[in-house]
Amino acid sequence: MSAPDIIVIGGGIAGLSAAAALSAHGRVAVLEAEEQVGYHSSGRSATMLHYALGDRLVRALTLASRAFFEHPPEGFTEVPLGRRTPVLVHAREDERAALDRLHAEISRFADLETLDAAGVHALCPLLNDQAVAGIAELEAMRIDAHALLQGNLRQLRSRGGELRTGARIQSIAREGGVWVVTSDKGERFSAAILVDAAGSWADEIGRLAGVQVLGLQPKRRTIITFDAPPGTDLEHLPFTKTIDDELYFGAESGRLFASPMDETPSEPCDAQPDEYDVALAAHRMEDRTTVEVRQIHSKWAGLRTFTSDQHPAAGFAPDADGFFWLAGQGGFGLQTSPAMAAIVESLVAGTPWPVADVAAADLSPSRFVRQPA
Ligand SMILES: Cc1cc2nc3c(=O)[nH]c(=O)nc-3n(C[C@H](O)[C@H](O)[C@H](O)COP(=O)(O)OP(=O)(O)OC[C@H]3O[C@@H](n4cnc5c(N)ncnc54)[C@H](O)[C@@H]3O)c2cc1C
Repeated sequence: MSAPDIIVIGGGIAGLSAAAALSAHGRVAVLEAEEQVGYHSSGRSATMLHYALGDRLVRALTLASRAFFEHPPEGFTEVPLGRRTPVLVHAREDERAALDRLHAEISRFADLETLDAAGVHALCPLLNDQAVAGIAELEAMRIDAHALLQGNLRQLRSRGGELRTGARIQSIAREGGVWVVTSDKGERFSAAILVDAAGSWADEIGRLAGVQVLGLQPKRRTIITFDAPPGTDLEHLPFTKTIDDELYFGAESGRLFASPMDETPSEPCDAQPDEYDVALAAHRMEDRTTVEVRQIHSKWAGLRTFTSDQHPAAGFAPDADGFFWLAGQGGFGLQTSPAMAAIVESLVAGTPWPVADVAAADLSPSRFVRQPA
């Protein structure tokens, strides 16, 4: 039996970034069911860092993470982790009040430009003339998700940690004060601390361990790619979104990508795009822009997994020694991963608390779990 100090279940961005941080304090093993890291949500995202989603807590975690993307630790990556990409939130006439509210919420986190109709179309010439106002966050970023995953993996390995892929955990037991986990191939691992970073499956891991689960809800989101109109300046195209959760689009590998921002409740699974959502993405693109979606080049779907209050959960289970929850990163798991990893490190290894604007209680799994009598 392999016996590290800490087992992390899940080789997505949550598990790998937490494992990299924890590997400064002990031997860490990451156990991942798939043959590659980032196969599920972490490899299917829109890869943005911006403040036009979530609420105060999510924005505070994002703000605390930003420096990591701009100045990663020495040796973490050979390529930039982020590339400046403006975010444009645009509004129709009837959406102006909502735009003003969003401006008020975001302005303490990011420098914003307020745009009139001409400004909106100068920044994103693809929008049609329904768009009459906007706010632009010019310093937003596109994250290189692959470089981020690989950088965390490199850091984990350089500190003596290991990743086991193809290790689907199917049983978990508490024996003699340690967690013993067994994969579908019969490999056994034991450790005093078990970090559950299994994304959409985090409650399933909790059930295997016999702890009270958080009530996580995975929600499917779909992305399509298609050709841009000839002459589109993809290099300078902002990530462009509606004020409500209706549509976002941007540039992707020489084409355009778009999402209808669907949030269909799902079981944990290898999410596949539904034809209705694919058609909806194309329809909404044509409704809000001058682009005709003639042919869909590619499509995919991924799960965004939420707690009931939409905030992530990070902390030891109140009902089981050594079981640590790291789940519910919703649609912001990449952009908040550096701060979340530092929070995990603080809660597990006692390093200083890293995010002044967020309290441990805000993230505690005790929000969802009855305390033992
Ligand atoms: C369409 C879409 C757009 C998004 N856009 C953004 C964005 O712009 N910015 C942003 O920050 N975030 C975005 N997100 C959200 C982000 O992708 C997620 O919050 C993040 O990837 C969650 O990471 P995770 O590690 O928790 O989950 P995952 O990446 O799903 O990792 C969990 C891992 O656990 C493994 N696992 C599960 N069960 C077991 C088991 N029994 N044994 C072993 N391993 C197991 C799985 O195989 C999986 O690899 C988006 C998501 C989607 C779907």
